[in-house]
Amino acid sequence: MAITETLESLSNACGVTGREEDVRVLMKKFIKPYVDEVKEDKLGNVIGVKEGKKDAPKVMIAGHMDEIGMLVKTISKEGFIQFMKLGGIDDRILPAQRVLIYTSKGILPGIIGSKPPHIQKEEERKKVPAADELFIDIGSGSEQEARRMGVRIGDVIGFEGKYTKVAKDIVIGKAFDDRIGCAIVVEALKRVGKTDLTLYGVGTVQEEVGLRGATTSAFGIYPDVGLALDVTVAGDVPGVREVESSIKMGKGPSLSVADAGLITHPKVLKMLIETAEENKIDYQLEAGLPGSTDAARMALTKEGVPSGVISVPTRYIHSPTSMLNLEDVEKSVKLTVAAIKKVPKYF
Ligand SMILES: [Zn+2]
Repeated sequence: MAITETLESLSNACGVTGREEDVRVLMKKFIKPYVDEVKEDKLGNVIGVKEGKKDAPKVMIAGHMDEIGMLVKTISKEGFIQFMKLGGIDDRILPAQRVLIYTSKGILPGIIGSKPPHIQKEEERKKVPAADELFIDIGSGSEQEARRMGVRIGDVIGFEGKYTKVAKDIVIGKAFDDRIGCAIVVEALKRVGKTDLTLYGVGTVQEEVGLRGATTSAFGIYPDVGLALDVTVAGDVPGVREVESSIKMGKGPSLSVADAGLITHPKVLKMLIETAEENKIDYQLEAGLPGSTDAARMALTKEGVPSGVISVPTRYIHSPTSMLNLEDVEKSVKLTVAAIKKVPKYF
């Protein structure tokens, strides 16, 4: 299976934080042919193990399976659903979105209600409604009816969005943050071939709410080197200044030097830069992103794990649809595989 097909099926699946099951099933299926063992830990992280020699280093590569979304908080008497956000969602992008509610009786489509412009007051037009003023309309008419349709407090709510090719090598889709990381994990396990080291390809849970799955999976594995595969903000769009984001789509993977949660281990950064240069893979250095990745937790495991991040520049992340360049993806895979093979030289 080509990485584009892997990405397409992972992107179309639902994996709202805490309900990663559909993505987990796919990840297990995709990595199985390339590993000696597929495990699932108690929190639901998927761990594919490619056994190596006994004294060789252990390397963990991880992409997170979860995506931003919401869950049902309350149901009003009139049958409207108020929700809680999971992960960093900008309230401005919520009104009028189509959503899917995953109930025990099946998937219910709905829309995040918004007041038509005709009846908005002048001040209302200028102001963004906060998420707690919004509601989801599933056409139920009453609380009892909504409950009969299957809605329960705590049901997860995901955005709708289909993987679509829009131009040469450019695709848009849901949850590229971080299904692209998951797809790179699968592809790296596939391409790495025989090595002495033991490689762990991990799909983590609950990254968007505080890097939780990475905390437990890294504890269980306690690797010698950790690499998170994720997306980063591509700032090459109107209205973004270079100082806010210098990373551009189509210019190769981004290597974070420091973000809000991690100072990339100098040896890991050196290994990534030298590997990219030796293999003539384009890369971009990045510093100062306010967010962080699973690498931040891997780094703090037990006595510490030298960790780093390889990110695919992605536009419009943490919205229902984002965009990336497949050439950046290919370069990220190449760098990941080449770096894994270089680990014994550096560690
Ligand atoms: Zn992410």
